[in-house]
Amino acid sequence: MLPYVRVPTIKLENYQGVISDELFDEVKILAKELKGLKVTFVNSTPRGGGVTEILKSLVGLMLGIGLKTEWHIIPPGRKFFGLTKELHNALQGKEFSLSFKARRLYQHHMERSAELMLDMESNVWIINDPQPAGVIHYLPNFHPSVAHFHIDTSHPNKDTWNFIEPILLAYDKIIFSAKEFVASTLPKRKIKIFAPAIDPLSDKNKPLSLQTAKTILESFGIDPTKPLVTQVSRFDPWKDPMGVIQAYYLAKNKIPNLQLALVGLFLAFDDSEAMRIFKQVKKHAGGDPDIFMFSDPQELGSLKVDIFVNAFQVGSDVILQKSIREGFGLTVAEAMWKEKPVIGGNVGGIKIQIKNGENGFLVSSPQETAKRIVQIIKNPALAEKMGKNAHQTVKEKFLMPRLLRDYLKLFKELV
Ligand code: UDP
Repeated sequence: MLPYVRVPTIKLENYQGVISDELFDEVKILAKELKGLKVTFVNSTPRGGGVTEILKSLVGLMLGIGLKTEWHIIPPGRKFFGLTKELHNALQGKEFSLSFKARRLYQHHMERSAELMLDMESNVWIINDPQPAGVIHYLPNFHPSVAHFHIDTSHPNKDTWNFIEPILLAYDKIIFSAKEFVASTLPKRKIKIFAPAIDPLSDKNKPLSLQTAKTILESFGIDPTKPLVTQVSRFDPWKDPMGVIQAYYLAKNKIPNLQLALVGLFLAFDDSEAMRIFKQVKKHAGGDPDIFMFSDPQELGSLKVDIFVNAFQVGSDVILQKSIREGFGLTVAEAMWKEKPVIGGNVGGIKIQIKNGENGFLVSSPQETAKRIVQIIKNPALAEKMGKNAHQTVKEKFLMPRLLRDYLKLFKELV
């Protein structure tokens, strides 16, 4: 059996009053019809990144409504994760030449993982992202099965796409976060579009007072009396941390006491690039005492990661997600839920969340980002109005029970 990730059960009833009654009732009816169904999720890491964030709550909620749900991870591998990070980057558009050796490494790891799945049984399989997707070629009767891709495949590297596409085609359904990520060569009948979602009741998103948030930030060296801009993101080139620093320096010309926090704790097993990018960014930050970078989870002591992130999202004046490719950007929805003005890159899944000028700003350059930072910090009324609109958007579209409903409807179709 593949390694198992334990998830506490979550009751749907907890969300009454947070989600609409219609959605609550719809989930209840679907749950009754699907009671006892065995559902198995597979991905590559038990923590770090958006997929684990979703699975923690989604699997818990499925358990809570009576589905036999399990979450498993494929075995880790240093070289393998080095390669899958390259595949991930290539699928998001980076130049990459997939060598014979690399193909063999991927296949070998898939064969090993599939072997561990031979004694597993499930009514539905859901395989997340490219890391574990290739197991399907080694498993007889691996149906019904769903490949859920969370990345921005709007401009994939051709070579890598040609390698991944036949794997995807072996699945019964393929889920993407946005229409623009779907290659025209994929059959429409297999495609589903599910926008990701956040859990409003998790430690990361539950209400935290501004006072508590500021006290936490102060304990990490941030001056609560000065304005703060934060980006919460893995140290990854697609999240454009260099662009964030450039924007900060430009904005600082107008707001001299501006502070910047980059929160990117090394949590994920499969992110082999984070340390290298962190070092590059640190160098670029040039020892500015108003730039705070967090990468080591040990630094938090006994404070939970989720509360730490929550405090930054609540205690900042502006939240950035200056990505240049983005599958969705849960961090955007998390901050919007907290009524924060978010400045996001005008790409991929961020465009589904932010309506420029209404519930946040969309930007395409460090210059534009700096301009918006200054505009928001100098105009608290605008920040407040955008924050309120942002919260409403998330409430209507991006809360976990909605994603649960999308999945339940899919299960009904499949079994
Ligand atoms: N995150 C975190 N600690 C960090 C950095 C990120 O808990 O130091 C969380 C963040 O709050 C979000 C998830 O990791 O829930 C990242 O998801 P997103 O979709 O934004 O990006 P991904 O990492 O999947 O590309």
